[in-house]
Formats: sequence, C-alpha cells, structure tokens
Amino acid sequence: MHDYDLLVVGSANADLVTVVERRPGAGETVLGSDLAVHPGGKGANQAVAAARLGARTALLARVGDDGHGRLLLDSMRSAGVDPVGVLVGGAPTGVALITVDPSGDNSIVVAPGANARLTPQDVKAAGSLFQASQVVSAQLEIPLDTVAEVVRALAPGSRFVLNPSPPAPLPAEVLAACDPLIVNEHEARVVLGADVTGEPEDWARALLALGPRSVVITLGAEGALVADGTGTRRVPSVKVTAVDTTGAGDAFTAALAWRLGAGESLADAAAFAARVGAAAVTKEGAQASYPTTAEVAAL
Ligand code: ATP
Repeated sequence: MHDYDLLVVGSANADLVTVVERRPGAGETVLGSDLAVHPGGKGANQAVAAARLGARTALLARVGDDGHGRLLLDSMRSAGVDPVGVLVGGAPTGVALITVDPSGDNSIVVAPGANARLTPQDVKAAGSLFQASQVVSAQLEIPLDTVAEVVRALAPGSRFVLNPSPPAPLPAEVLAACDPLIVNEHEARVVLGADVTGEPEDWARALLALGPRSVVITLGAEGALVADGTGTRRVPSVKVTAVDTTGAGDAFTAALAWRLGAGESLADAAAFAARVGAAAVTKEGAQASYPTTAEVAAL
C-alpha cells in the first residue's frame, strides 16, 4: 500500500493577471484592470486537481520564502495536497505575468524563480517520497536535468506520466520511462522535431516510435486519443460550454495519472480525464475550476 496515489514533481507559480485594452509596444505604458493573483504553475495545478478528485497527493516543488509562496501553500493545503515535498527558499516564487486582451487572448511572461532552482539533488533528497508513491507525474516548467533525475528516482513498479510543457526535445532515457507521454498538437510537433502531418493517429505512432510505452494526445474540444503497443483509440469529449480553458490540460493529466494508478486501462482513465478536463473549462481560472469526483459524475 502506497502513502500517495500521486506524486507531482513540478512548478508552482503565482499568476498575476490584468486585462488590457491593447498590449504596450516597446517603451510604452498602458493601464490595465485591477491585478488578480491566482495560484498556478503546472505542477501545483496538477497536484490541486488530483487532490480535489480525492487522490492522496504530494507535490515536490520549490517556492520562495515570500507572499506568493504562502499563497501557493495555502491553496495546496486547502485542496488537500500534502506539502511535505514543497521546498521553500533559494529564489523568489515563480511568477507568470499575464495580460488578457478584450478578445480573451493571453500574453504571458514567466519568471521561473524558485522553479529553476528545483535541482536533481532535491529529487535525490526526496527519495522516500518516490518510494511512497504509486504514480509520479512531471511537466517541463522545471529544469530538464531535474526531470531526468525523477525518472532515475522512480520506485520499482511505480508509473511515470509526463506532459512535456512547455515542450522541448526529450532525452531517450526520459522518453522510455513515459507511460504515457501526454501531448497536445504543439507539444507533439516539438517532441517529434518535425511538423506533424496526417491524422492524430499518425502523430501518436510517430511518438511511440521514440520509445514511450504509451502516448495520449489531447485534442481540446475534440477529446483525446490514446495509443500503445496494441493500437490507437479515440476518447470522445464531453459537450460543455467552455468559459475558460486555462489549466484544462493539467486537470486532464492529473486525473489520468490518478486513475491509471488505481488500475484502470489507458482508455478508461483517459475517458475519465476527458470529463475532468471538460468540467475544468466550464469555470473561470485554473485551480479554482477543478472539480470534485461528485461534480465530474454530475456533468
Ligand atoms: P492547456 O491549455 O491547459 O495547456 P492542453 O492543450 O494541454 O491545455 P486541451 O486539449 O486543451 O489540453 O485539454 C485537455 C482535455 O480537456 C482535452 O483532451 C479534453 O478532453 C478536455 N477539454 C478541453 N477543452 C474542452 C472543451 N472545450 N470541451 C470539452 N472538453 C474539453
């Protein structure tokens, strides 16, 4: 029996959001709306999404010894994430500076701060967390060297799930551990190092050839596709009115990782994750939009 269903290793950011009439050019200043500060970052989002669903979840991350770090820790604790692996200090908490224009498009500058200081050494020092976790998930808002160390730290029999976002070419050692590798179209293109052509089934087969044990492609309102050695399968989306898609991918990944750890097949886990992703787009925000299992069932 593991202590944790899911260990998330990844980023924690404060999202600083303001709405602008138009973006400033070089040397220009524009006025925006009142600032909104939300807990975010793909690692923290995944951990909060999993805990909201009822997964016993821990997060290995680094935040600064500052107000943004405390905001993130509060959000994790109130969702039920065990913050035992959240390291504090070394640099300011990561920040995403987000401007939203009237059409709803985002422009984002990320100052990685403490996320860039989550080191391979920090992963080695957290060995007991890895031993205690059924599934481990990661993203790429922390150094790639650190993600490579995560793969080496996995306990025998535990499962590794990676969403390579923001995307980068991946070392063979990391690819070989992914079960699954979860990508959208843009991430697929970067991981493949080539333009994706044909149908998502073709991208999935090209990705499988790079070495992961399985692949999931998320297709927004079109749902998702799963692929492994036995073939490819489409996972339908749930029809909802999308209000804000921020963080839907993180909720999808967290839900999928949790259900895989519970022994579900890749297709069944992805079908559940698609319901969670759909629920997340029906509300504003990232962490604030994540559903409980009861809310997913009611969808
Ligand atoms: P993110 O914008 O968070 O990086 P992503 O591109 O990684 O997202 P998406 O494909 O947008 O991921 O969303 C993940 C999953 O959530 C989808 O596979 C789908 O199941 C569900 N989903 C997303 N958008 C919608 C929508 N408009 N309607 C229904 N389901 C959706």
